[in-house]
Amino acid sequence: CGIVGYVGPRAAAPLLIDGLKRLEYRGYDSAGVAVMNGKVETRKAAGKIARLESVIGQQPVHGTVGIAHTRWATHGAPNERNAHPHVDEKSEVAVVHNGIIENATALRTLLEQTGHTFTSETDTEVLAHLIEASYDGCLEDAVLEALHLVDGTYGIAVVHAKEPNKIVAARKGSPLLVGVGDGEYFVASDASAILNSTRNVVYLDDGELAVVTRDGYKIMSLDARELVKEVNRIEWDL
Ligand code: GLU
Repeated sequence: CGIVGYVGPRAAAPLLIDGLKRLEYRGYDSAGVAVMNGKVETRKAAGKIARLESVIGQQPVHGTVGIAHTRWATHGAPNERNAHPHVDEKSEVAVVHNGIIENATALRTLLEQTGHTFTSETDTEVLAHLIEASYDGCLEDAVLEALHLVDGTYGIAVVHAKEPNKIVAARKGSPLLVGVGDGEYFVASDASAILNSTRNVVYLDDGELAVVTRDGYKIMSLDARELVKEVNRIEWDL
């Protein structure tokens, strides 16, 4: 339902939580974050974002790169286990996803036959395993490969433990944008999540992928051509 991501010099968790709260009006049943800290550390909670905050209060996550999600369940019960981010069995890849993967059941069967173990009932989790299976040192390449196998709709944000300063985001049928700050970058499903930090945004169109790092961002088509996109200035107020 709602996606926020952050790459920059500031502590990620408070910014991610703040962003999720600004998306609360859209409705959700659970929430979670993944923050890079040598590995991918996830925290999740069913129910209100306040519950996620108290989980993080008890088990803080330190790091300056992360992704976060509020879920509106379509596949699998609204509980902590099915809350995003979803990870592969090595917990190196973490994915947040808005939308529906239509061929998730078939993909899951194939992945289970090749030794992948699933921990949730969601359609989203196939993305984490597909990306892990395709990964060969470059996250955007792995995401592109995985997306070619899925049918359905998605706005996604993905991180990998081996590239701790990078978020890869992609969109098909579910809104997503890159926020361009001063030495920091955001990913969000809705500009209101990040307006507190920046008003400069690049809207992704369907079939586009963004690679966001501390040093900048690039936008590509799903056939890996680099695209030049306009930066929009948001003038409206919160
Ligand atoms: N289909 C996914 C799920 O059920 C994503 C739902 C959403 O858009 O929040 O977990």
